[in-house]
Amino acid sequence: MRIDFHTHTFPNAIAARTIAKLEKSARTASYADGTEDGLRASMEQAGIDYSVILPVATRPGQTETINRVAIETNDRHRETGLISFGGIHPENSDYRQILRSLAASGIRGIKLHPVYQQTDFDDIRYMRIIDCACENGLIVVTHAGYDISFPEGGQATPAHILTVLDTVKPDRLVLAHMGGWRCWDEVERNLAGAPVWLDTSFTTTPIRPAKDTSRTPEESYTLPAEQFCRLVRKHGCGHILFGSDSPWSDQEEAVMLLKQSGLAPEECLAILGGNGERLLQF
Ligand SMILES: [Zn+2]
Repeated sequence: MRIDFHTHTFPNAIAARTIAKLEKSARTASYADGTEDGLRASMEQAGIDYSVILPVATRPGQTETINRVAIETNDRHRETGLISFGGIHPENSDYRQILRSLAASGIRGIKLHPVYQQTDFDDIRYMRIIDCACENGLIVVTHAGYDISFPEGGQATPAHILTVLDTVKPDRLVLAHMGGWRCWDEVERNLAGAPVWLDTSFTTTPIRPAKDTSRTPEESYTLPAEQFCRLVRKHGCGHILFGSDSPWSDQEEAVMLLKQSGLAPEECLAILGGNGERLLQF
């Protein structure tokens, strides 16, 4: 079974508008149209059985709609292969109720985004949410490191993450982008081997400039394959999850680059599916 643990879709009515807006702020081209159909076509092409959709609540008021859509998406997951996590915002003061009802609805996890949510990852509100999510058996996926749209946004650095690990001791925390986008030296030094999962999204795939924009080589920097393999092995291959960040990279290309990264075939197999199956309790 092949699982992509990090993807995004938007409701049909706003997908084109949202993708255009994000392409502009990130100066980065998308590889799919951001709809469920677009993601399913991409999965077919890449031989992916399940994609985990990670919605982000950028305002506290969005949480309710996001979670309603997530539950509807999950109701159809056997036909579509799409599994949506829920969203929550640090300013949702009724977080306990939200997390309990997500768990009761069969949602498997939540997504946090300290940069988009403009809150440090070691803020007490995140710690409470993470603690309560774990108590309810939910997986917590967080954006980690810098974000391509907000190069100054340092809310989810390895230092913040280490504080949360020490304080909350979450048992099912997934750090996106190999533990910290463009913080990889620090991840390798201080975070690798910690009791967390790392996803591979948006790390080794090329960053393509959006139409009418350009990116300098420095702005296009990604994780070199050699360091990627070193990080996988230092962290422990059993806790690495394949993610593409579709539509922000191409799923098929992401699979291919993983296979060409220098890892052994059995390491790739675990990353592409076995580890995700275990975490999702398939
Ligand atoms: Zn993402």
